[in-house]
Amino acid sequence: MVELPLVGGCMCGALRYEVSAAPMMVYNCHCTNCQKISGSAFNTSVIVAETSLRFTQGEPARVEWVSDRGATRCGLFCGACGSRIVNGGSPTTGVFSLRGGTLDDTTWLQPVGDTYTRSAQPWVRFVEDGLRAETLPADFAPFVAAFAAQGRF
Ligand SMILES: [Zn+2]
Ligand SMILES: [Zn+2]
Repeated sequence: MVELPLVGGCMCGALRYEVSAAPMMVYNCHCTNCQKISGSAFNTSVIVAETSLRFTQGEPARVEWVSDRGATRCGLFCGACGSRIVNGGSPTTGVFSLRGGTLDDTTWLQPVGDTYTRSAQPWVRFVEDGLRAETLPADFAPFVAAFAAQGRF
């Protein structure tokens, strides 16, 4: 079992956070925004309740943008080193997409599937026997159920 709170921070150490409640799901997102933000092929997205995240050191900088679906989204990041910690806002409200790589302990992370597979790099291997969505899943319930079935929390 994974112990709560989850703790993590940015690369330079100026920002530290904790997550007091179990995440809802973990998946790899291959959308072009995640590729830009991470500077890599995909992001390992850990979905947590907004109310469960607390910064214990430092104040995050904030950026906002309008998604291609017209929703205002935001990102919280370290103003000193630039590490993105979470994305928030629509289409899912009340939750943050925590960047999995910012956790101190990443050993328990097991994505249940892949989203935005249509923009995935051609050499990427998707999660074996995992859930897949070409863009955003119409329904996240199978992702939530698959994550719960891992029994990590
Ligand atoms: Zn930093
Ligand atoms: Zn994405």
